[in-house]
Amino acid sequence: MILRTVEALRAQVRTWKAAGQQIGVVPTMGALHGGHLSLVRAARAECPRVIVTIFVNPRQFDNPEDLSNYPRTEAADAGQLAPLGVDAIFAPTPDQVYPPGFATTVSVGGVAEPLEGAMRPGHFDGVATVVAKLFGATLADRAYFGEKDWQQLQVVRRMVADLNLPVTVVGCPTLREASGLAMSSRNMRLSPQARAVVAPALYAAMTEAAQAIRQGQAPGTALPAARERLLRAGFEKVDYIVTRDAETLQDWSDPARPARMLAAAWLDGVRLIDNIAV
Ligand code: AMP
Repeated sequence: MILRTVEALRAQVRTWKAAGQQIGVVPTMGALHGGHLSLVRAARAECPRVIVTIFVNPRQFDNPEDLSNYPRTEAADAGQLAPLGVDAIFAPTPDQVYPPGFATTVSVGGVAEPLEGAMRPGHFDGVATVVAKLFGATLADRAYFGEKDWQQLQVVRRMVADLNLPVTVVGCPTLREASGLAMSSRNMRLSPQARAVVAPALYAAMTEAAQAIRQGQAPGTALPAARERLLRAGFEKVDYIVTRDAETLQDWSDPARPARMLAAAWLDGVRLIDNIAV
């Protein structure tokens, strides 16, 4: 069942709520791959009703070209979801999500400010606003997000805590291709050569640097080496490769706290991001 309007979605959700059924939501921008499907499976295992949302959210794109190039494959997406037993796909048009007069922005501070927040102005405002709206529209009890977008997951958790939103946020591990490359809708924009030969260096360089840091090497040595390795492998530009406090995304100064390595780098004009535990 594909629902296009908030009204139709709400009518469906009301019947489920009346029957006392918990609802899980998996927010996506479509162009579904194994990573998305793993979130759907996690939701399916825990929730009697599962909604997948497909919406390429214009407000979270800081670059108009990235928005217009973003893959849109709705029929194939619905085909991939059918065997998983999804109860509804919510695929609204932009005017449903942002009707005339729309004037509210949810803006998370702190965790949303560094890294992706600094490189992509307005990105997390767009994410937080649309996710808050999707929570309101779906009345979901549980919401599933990938660790692939680690900072986004922390931003959503912060928003939910700060606004007392009645939803449990569930983080799910990153699914990778056999090469180690994190699955991403943007991977299909890479040339076959770049995807097979160059892109896997991102995960390989991060894994090696994380291991070196665990063995006592200073991040100030391990991270520049990883950056060099990416450039040598064929990445055009490395926006950042850093270790941060896993929850706050601020500097990792307390070794007793969990750390996360996060990176963003350009290949074939496509910006890839990844992250791993340190
Ligand atoms: P997107 O369609 O890129 O906005 O992603 C929708 C959701 O799928 C987000 O919560 C992502 O973190 C998650 N996701 C994307 N790629 C992966 C992956 N490789 N493994 C796990 N989750 C992912």
